[in-house]
Order: sequence, then structure tokens, then C-alpha cells
Amino acid sequence: MELRPNAYDVVVVGAGNAALCAALSAQEQGARVLVMERAPVDERGGNSVYTDGKMRVVYDGLEDILALSSDLSADEIARSDFGRYTEEEFFNDMARITQNRCDPDLCEILVKQSRETLRWMKANGVRFHPNYGRQAYRIDGRFKFWGGAPIVVSGGGQGLVDALFKSAEKKGIEVVYSAWAQDLVHSDSGVNGVVARIDGETHTIHADAVILACGGFEANTEWRSRYLGPGWDLAKVRGTKYNTGDGLAMALRIGAQPYGHWSGCHATGWERYASDFGDLIQTPNFQRHSYTFGIMVNADGKRFLDEGADFRSYTYAKYGHLVLDQPGQYAWQIYDAKVSHLLLDEYRTRQVTKVTSNTLEELADKMEDVNKAQFLKTVRDFNAAVKTDVPFDPNIKDGRSAPGLDVPRSDWANRIDTPPFEAYAITCGITFTFGGLRINTEGQVLDTNHEVIPGLFAAGEMVGGIFYFNYPGASGLTSGAVFGRLAGSSAGNYAKQRRAA
Ligand SMILES: Cc1cc2nc3c(=O)[nH]c(=O)nc-3n(C[C@H](O)[C@H](O)[C@H](O)COP(=O)(O)OP(=O)(O)OC[C@H]3O[C@@H](n4cnc5c(N)ncnc54)[C@H](O)[C@@H]3O)c2cc1C
Repeated sequence: MELRPNAYDVVVVGAGNAALCAALSAQEQGARVLVMERAPVDERGGNSVYTDGKMRVVYDGLEDILALSSDLSADEIARSDFGRYTEEEFFNDMARITQNRCDPDLCEILVKQSRETLRWMKANGVRFHPNYGRQAYRIDGRFKFWGGAPIVVSGGGQGLVDALFKSAEKKGIEVVYSAWAQDLVHSDSGVNGVVARIDGETHTIHADAVILACGGFEANTEWRSRYLGPGWDLAKVRGTKYNTGDGLAMALRIGAQPYGHWSGCHATGWERYASDFGDLIQTPNFQRHSYTFGIMVNADGKRFLDEGADFRSYTYAKYGHLVLDQPGQYAWQIYDAKVSHLLLDEYRTRQVTKVTSNTLEELADKMEDVNKAQFLKTVRDFNAAVKTDVPFDPNIKDGRSAPGLDVPRSDWANRIDTPPFEAYAITCGITFTFGGLRINTEGQVLDTNHEVIPGLFAAGEMVGGIFYFNYPGASGLTSGAVFGRLAGSSAGNYAKQRRAA
């Protein structure tokens, strides 16, 4: 692509979900848009391309599902119980999961715009279908959906990013790859451009408005230890290696206000010997989210968390942290034959560190780095505590607990007593960081005087104040799309006004 340094109204830094939604939305306002992607073309799309494409959305039953996924067959409709997910439920989940820290104004935008934004994405070529299998278990021939995220993008993250790029290209949005944004062009009148190294050469691109949508700092080892704390340098990065906090750094340099949970992040249990960064082919197989049906033990052979505290969508993003805190930063997930059919598909791929045995004694020997005597005691105590009189039901919080243990177990408890037994080794995989910039309800970045920095907008992982401590599964893409669309339309309007002035 031939670079035209003075030809754009809006420059978008980044090319993930938030950036592409921002670009499309700015273009709708008549802006000439340039998207700057640090990655080469074959690695484009940031963390968004690594996702399953699950999206949390407010919906009121079948009609709203059909508005997003119109080609459901009569048979699929007949055997699906989609339920509903109201605005109030989404608000409550955000409040509960973030320990009431979520910025109420931003939360309101996220929740109230979610339904309309997914429909807008559909109009921009993104295809959706119900998330059978991962958000609903088949019981007596019917799928009952749970957890507020019934919808997934067809083709997952790759399908999402491809669809958004296709739509952008159709609309004349230009994209420059291997374009590493490093600084903002800034004066008393605000931000009006970006300095970037493009294919090794430094260029200054001028524009009336700049949208930063270039991710958090999860792929920056030094920043992880600096902001998240000791040990975080040892986490695996689940997604892109390009999100090193550059956008945050360049905004902070011109006085932008840091906001949100800078010492917090989304991190999960992850294949123990996964690659250091995401890998588009292997990454989906590194997830280990079926722990609600088994137990987790550390090197001492002890349980250290409530595997059944809630549906996995509400616990998986905070449990990576607890795994990182264990001796050696690893743990083992243990399952028996009664539940192995419930394990997600990735447990049956080759990218697993797994041992199996017909006896728990031999399983402990095969795990090698777990205290055998304590492990056997942990299983004995757990088995004795399980309330087997309460029926097991994976589609609801079934109250089948294991009371009286030092580490509680709230739901879905099953005795580990039926061979063959399986154990999977995990470590901590970081997904994205929660700290970001403070924006107002128009997506404009504020400075540390609480005033708008004219011409500067932010979206996606870069927005602070949304997630704290934990995260309701499937909210990242929805947040990126909602705030990307908002920043895009605000920046497009701002550029229009600048041109008219
Ligand atoms: C394995 C995995 C699975 C996930 N699954 C889901 C899911 O199913 N549902 C869900 O909601 N969320 C999921 N998430 C979280 C989700 O990926 C993020 O919340 C979301 O994609 C963030 O979007 P974004 O556009 O803000 O950032 P990104 O998609 O990460 O985009 C950032 C962009 O900025 C670019 N960039 C970085 N620095 C620079 C620079 N200096 N100059 C130019 N460009 C730069 C990057 O190359 C990239 O293109 C998952 C994450 C991972 C890693």
C-alpha cells in the first residue's frame, strides 16, 4: 500500500476487533480512515483472532437469537432452550464479578449497546450461530443455554477478523501492516497524528483524530512484573505477542489518565508446556476449562480453589492467578470416567500434558511432581464429603457440594472413584490486562486534569474501568465492539467538525 501521510481524517492504531469496529464506524461518518497494524498481514487481528468468538449479549429469547442467526433449522429451534439474558442480569453480573468496581457509566454503555452492536456487526458481514456444546449441555435431547453468552461468531476469532477486514476493504478503509505506532503527534490543539515505524522506517501520519485500539500490556514481560506483580513474568501469553502496552505508554506520555485495575488481568489455567505466546494453530487446544467437573491439586497434593464456585464463565478468568500462586506455578486437573465425556474437545487433542491410570496410586506416581500421600488423602477426603444425594446437573448450579473441606466445593461435585482416571497439567496463561485509559461516554480520552484530550479516542482492551479482579466470559469482544463503534463514530464526527471549522 502506498502511504499518503496527509490523506486521512482518522487513524486507528491496531487491527483487532475494537480497532476494526472503530474504523468501520468512523467510515460511516464519512471519514477517510487508515488502520495501522503492527503485525505483518499473516499475524493480523491481535488477540481477537485467537478467540473462540463467544460474545455476551442481552437477548430476549428466540427472536433475538434469530435476529443474529437467521438460518436456524426448525429442528434446532425445537431442541434449544435459549432462555434470556436481561439488561439487569448483565449489569448484575458485571457488578458481582468486578466486586462493584466497574465504572457505572461505561457499564451502562456496554450492557445497553450490546444487542444493537451485535446486529450492527452482522450488518457488517459478521456471521453468528448459537454456541451449542460450549454454552449448553444436551440433557434429555434438549440444549439448555446458560451464562449469558449463547452466541458465537461463525469461524471463531478468525471468522470475526476476516469478516471485519472484508467489510473494511469493501468500504475503502486502508490498512497498513508492519506499522508499529510509537508516538502521538500532539500540540496545544490536541492529538493530530501518529509516528510509526513502517517496515523499519519512521513516518509521521497526520489525521484529525486518532483512535488507540492497540491492546493492553499482557505481552510485555517487564510491564507484567512491574504492574501485576512478582511471578507474572512467568505466565504464558495466550494470544498475540504484539500487545506490549505501546498505546498506553504513548498516551500516558502526553498526560492521559490511567484508569481501572492496573494490577489486575484476565488469566486462566493453560497447558503447562504451551508456547510462550499464542500460536494460531495450537492455541485453541491449550485451554483447560472443564475443571468444574473434577478437582485441581497443586504440587503439595492439595486443592487450592473451589472448582465449582460458579459456571466456568464466571471463574476461569480469575483462576489463572491462583494457579500462578502455587509452588512451581503449576497444578493438575483430575477427572474420572464418570465425567470424562463432559470434557471440552481440546482435552482430546495432542496438545495436552496428560497421564492416565486405572488406580489413583499409579496416577500419582505418573504425575511425578505431586506429593503422593497428600494427593491420595485429598481425594479420600473429597470423596467422603460429596453430597451424593443431590442430583448432578451440569446445566444449572446444582448445589451438589462437598461440605466441610478446608477448601470449599460448591457445585457439580462427583466422587473421583471410577477408573480410568485422567490428570492434566496446567500453568497460568495471561489473556489481557485490565488497566487502561480513562474515557468519557463519547470514547474520548481524558487527561489527568480530567479534561478531554482533543482528537484522542480509545477502545477495546485499552479502556480502563470496565473489568476488575475477574471477568464475565465473552465480554471482551462485546466490549471491544461496543466501545470501538462508539470511538469510531465520535472520532468521525470530531474529524467532520474539524474539517468544517
Ligand atoms: C486465547 C484467547 C481466547 C479468547 N476468547 C474470547 C472469547 O471467546 N470471547 C471474548 O469476548 N473474548 C475472548 N478473548 C479476549 C479477547 O481477545 C479480547 O478481549 C479482545 O479481542 C480485545 O480486542 P482488542 O481489539 O482490544 O485487542 P486486540 O484484538 O488484541 O487488538 C490489538 C491490536 O493492536 C495491535 N498493536 C499493538 N501494538 C501496536 C502498535 N504499537 N502499533 C500498531 N498496532 C499495534 C495488535 O497487533 C492488534 O492488531 C480471548 C483472548 C484470548 C487470548
